[in-house]
Amino acid sequence: MIFADLHIHSKYSRATSKDMDVKHLSRFGEMKGLNVIGSGDITHPKWREELRNETEPLGNGVFKSKYNNTLFVLSSEIATIYSQDDKLRRVHHVVLFPDFDVVEQFYDELKIDLYKRGKKCNFSSDGRPIIGMGSVELCEHLFSVSKKNILIPAHIWTPWFSVFGSKSGFDNLNDCYGEFAKDLFALETGLSSDPLMNWRLSSISDKVLVSNSDCHSPFVSRIGRECNVLRGDASDFSYDYLLNALKRKELEFTVEVDPSYGKYHFDGHRNCNVCLNPSESIKIGNKCPVCGRELTIGVLHRVEELADKPEGYKPAKAVPFEYHIPLIEIVSNLVSSGVSTKKVWVIYEALIKKYGNEFNIMFKVSVDDLNNSFANLGSIVKSLRDKSLRVKPGYDGVYGEPVINANVNPQKSIGDF
Ligand SMILES: [Zn+2]
Ligand SMILES: [Zn+2]
Repeated sequence: MIFADLHIHSKYSRATSKDMDVKHLSRFGEMKGLNVIGSGDITHPKWREELRNETEPLGNGVFKSKYNNTLFVLSSEIATIYSQDDKLRRVHHVVLFPDFDVVEQFYDELKIDLYKRGKKCNFSSDGRPIIGMGSVELCEHLFSVSKKNILIPAHIWTPWFSVFGSKSGFDNLNDCYGEFAKDLFALETGLSSDPLMNWRLSSISDKVLVSNSDCHSPFVSRIGRECNVLRGDASDFSYDYLLNALKRKELEFTVEVDPSYGKYHFDGHRNCNVCLNPSESIKIGNKCPVCGRELTIGVLHRVEELADKPEGYKPAKAVPFEYHIPLIEIVSNLVSSGVSTKKVWVIYEALIKKYGNEFNIMFKVSVDDLNNSFANLGSIVKSLRDKSLRVKPGYDGVYGEPVINANVNPQKSIGDF
C-alpha cells in the first residue's frame, strides 16, 4: 500500500511552522507511515529551490527526499477570490503538476494574465497565493499548460473557502467550475466531513473522494492525519500512477479523522462559546443565542442542505475509509499529559520503534499486541477500527476532541517496554 498526503503547506505559507521543510516533513512523514507527500506551495520560488536542492528526481514526476525514502510530488494550493452572481466567492484548489517545467510555465501564464488585467499577485510573499481570478479561468490556464495537471477542489465544505462552503460557495460544481466540472475527477473532503456525509450528494457520486492533512506543521499530530491509500508498493509510484489511480477511482481506502474532530463540523460561535448541532441552530433561526449574530454554519449543516440521499446511503464503487486519530493525541490522553510534552514523546517514539510507523499501529497490528504494549492503546485503536470512538464536535474554528477515558487501568510510563 502507498500512503499519500497530497496537501500540505511549507514554511513559506502564512501561519505555518518554521519547521515546514524537506527535512522535518521527511522525518515525521516516515514516522507516520507516509510514502508520498505533496510538496505544497510549489508556486513559491524559494520553496521550489529548496525542493530541487533537497530531493533527487527519480523521473516521472517523483522526487526522493535526500534524508530518507520519502517521495514528493509537486503540488500547491491556490486561493481564488472573485465575485460571481453578486456574491463574493473564495474557493481553494489543490493543484498537482507532473514536473518543474510545467510548474514554471503555469506560473508565468498566471503572472502575465494577472498583469494584463491590472491585478497584483506576489507569488513570493505567500506560499499559498491568493489570486483575483475565477475558478473557470484558473482551470483554463492550468489545463492549457498541461493536460496532465490535476485540480482537486480543496476541503470542499469549509465555510469561507470552498466550492460548497456556507459563506462563499456554490450549490453545485457546475456553477463554480463551468465546463471543467465534468473533467474534475477528485474532490477533497476536508477534516470536517467524511465520505459517509459526501455520499449523500448524488451530484458528486462520479468523483473520487480524497483526503489530505492540509497541515501547517510537520509534527506527527498534523501530517498525514488524513491521507489516501493507493494500491501497490512505493516502488510502483509515479505521477502517472497517481493520475490514473485517481481517474479510475482505484484507491484502497482513505484515512479520515472523525468529521467531528474537524474545526467546522457543528455550527457555532467560538468567541461566544456556543456550539450547536444543525437541528438546534435551525430551531433558533441560525442566530447566536449569546450575541444575536448569524452563526458560523458548519459542514454537517451544509451537507444536510445539499444532500438528496438519506443518511447512511453508499453509492456503488465508493472507496472505503478508515478512521484515525493521531497516535500522539491518543498517548497524550492516555497519560493525561500534553501532546508536546517529553513524557508523551518518549512513549510515542518507543511505540514507533517497536511497530515501524503509526499507520502499522492503526491498521495492521493486533489489538491484543497493542494492549500488551501499552494499557488501553489496543482498545482505543479497536474503537477507531470499528468506528465507535466518540469525538466531541468541533465548531467555528475549534477542533473537536476525542473522548478517551484515561481512567480505566491507566499506565503512566512505558514501564516494561
Ligand atoms: Zn485551503
Ligand atoms: Zn455569538
